[in-house]
Amino acid sequence: MEKRMKEAIRYLGYGRNTADERTCTMIRNAFSEVENAAGTKCICRIFDVEQTADNNTAIGNLIIDSRSLSRNLKGCTKAVLFGATLGAGVDRLIRRTSLTDMSHAVIQQACAAALLEEYCDEQQLAIGRKLENEGLYLRPRFSPGYGDFDIRYQEPIMRMLDCAKTIGLTMTSSYMMTPTKSVTAVIGASRIKERCPVAGCEACGKSDCEYRR
Ligand code: SF4
Repeated sequence: MEKRMKEAIRYLGYGRNTADERTCTMIRNAFSEVENAAGTKCICRIFDVEQTADNNTAIGNLIIDSRSLSRNLKGCTKAVLFGATLGAGVDRLIRRTSLTDMSHAVIQQACAAALLEEYCDEQQLAIGRKLENEGLYLRPRFSPGYGDFDIRYQEPIMRMLDCAKTIGLTMTSSYMMTPTKSVTAVIGASRIKERCPVAGCEACGKSDCEYRR
């Protein structure tokens, strides 16, 4: 089964139980609908990184107080700030579907989340390939709101990426992103060749890694 199907099934809460054929067909149809409605966009910018104190990391002029981010970026000289969105069309599709068929809207939500993940992975691999030519190797994607990396850092990251102008991504005062199927993240870049899998530390077998999030 393709990774995106597995992801959507996981988001739908099937756990170890496999979805039946009818559900799988509904998920496949929902993937097509979401893909047709999507207008994917992304932006990345590279900044210098400096660890300024125990738990503090400076990315450009932005000082981030997070122990787990600081550990994950240890040894990195650069960081990629990354923003991506599936676009407003997906929100409109899900809203329209939810008026008549809530369970189908829930499946579209799961497919949208899986597609966003897949899109981010593809973009990250492309960024990684480019940076490898300069002798830089990417760490996993790390988003505000994960662990002790406060969600409030989403605002300066979006500002540093000029997200409203570059990819049409804005944020409400309660840190909800518009379009909703969007992410921002920090990706460390180091001269140390760790070969982090794009799926991140959770999918990585290096259990004794000192950079693990
Ligand atoms: S645990 Fe694996 S994915 Fe995470 S930082 Fe270490 S090498 Fe990279």
